[in-house]
Amino acid sequence: MNDTLELKQIPLSDADATWQSELKHAYRSASELRLALGLPPGDDRDYGFPILAPRPYVSRITKGDPTDPLLLQVLSNERESDEQLGFSTDPLDERDANPRPGVVHKYQSRQLFIATGQCAVNCRYCFRRHFPYSDNRVSRAQWRDNIRQTALNPSVNEIILSGGDPLLLNDDVLNELLNEVERHPSITRVRIHTRLPLVIPQRITDALIATLSNRRFKVIVVWHINHPNEIDEAVKFAALRLQQTGVTQLNQSVLLKSVNNAAVTLAELSERLFSIHILPYYLHLLDRVAGAAHFLVSDREAKLIYRELAEHLPGFLVPKLARETSGNYSKNTFGTDNL
Ligand code: SF4
Repeated sequence: MNDTLELKQIPLSDADATWQSELKHAYRSASELRLALGLPPGDDRDYGFPILAPRPYVSRITKGDPTDPLLLQVLSNERESDEQLGFSTDPLDERDANPRPGVVHKYQSRQLFIATGQCAVNCRYCFRRHFPYSDNRVSRAQWRDNIRQTALNPSVNEIILSGGDPLLLNDDVLNELLNEVERHPSITRVRIHTRLPLVIPQRITDALIATLSNRRFKVIVVWHINHPNEIDEAVKFAALRLQQTGVTQLNQSVLLKSVNNAAVTLAELSERLFSIHILPYYLHLLDRVAGAAHFLVSDREAKLIYRELAEHLPGFLVPKLARETSGNYSKNTFGTDNL
């Protein structure tokens, strides 16, 4: 079956719901999330990082299973209050790499823009869960100025839109910003890091497709998918629509204890990603952010998992195992021998 036929036949989970209405009706407390999933009442604290879990994502969680790997990514856990040596609120020292509001300069040829401080899902392991987003709010005029300043730097040819989730910008704003990038030939790539089409696939609107299509520069969408169960028919449909615009689609995952720390799970993830036109790109070791220590997979275990993964898969489906280190201009990547 070709992709065009598949596109016509796969409905979205709720054809009437817009992505904005799905966001509005997302679960915002542990108690309502537990209730929706048939789980007994429990700890309702959010440990300083609000619960946020949209319904399309929650619909993929197995009801009544407190160990579901998707649930563990969005439900707060009393271990978030544990103090762990080596875990901090700014594990990558990003506050020192924040030359002006809205911009993080961590990499040599790329400039990272904090497009928004909001996300459509709050991932409990997020390394920016303590990031001072309120210091990084910028107006549209400042955004345009940041793009112009970036384009003046001869060593930078790529803009990375990160956040928060850049696809929370509405289509008009996104279009205006990408139109500004069009004016600066030195920028040859725009990369968009997002979890939004995963948690609310309806985000891939016709207007977004038009915004991303026919650009002078290459557009790369980097999905953040950690587990094969996160991919359902609606996600597949969203990826197929993006693929038809000609954007490059990559995925990065975080290696998370009790979520995906098994080679068989990661192999299945790679296979599913490839079947929906997304290439596995990075498998990150956890950034040591305060509140997420219970997700840590030891280096020793990571090495064993990665070796087994490499044995399971052809090379092009094996993501690079990577660790980000503060002050480095690129991620440290590991083969099966040098972790
Ligand atoms: S979507 Fe990304 S930035 Fe937002 S909470 Fe999840 S990991 Fe963090």
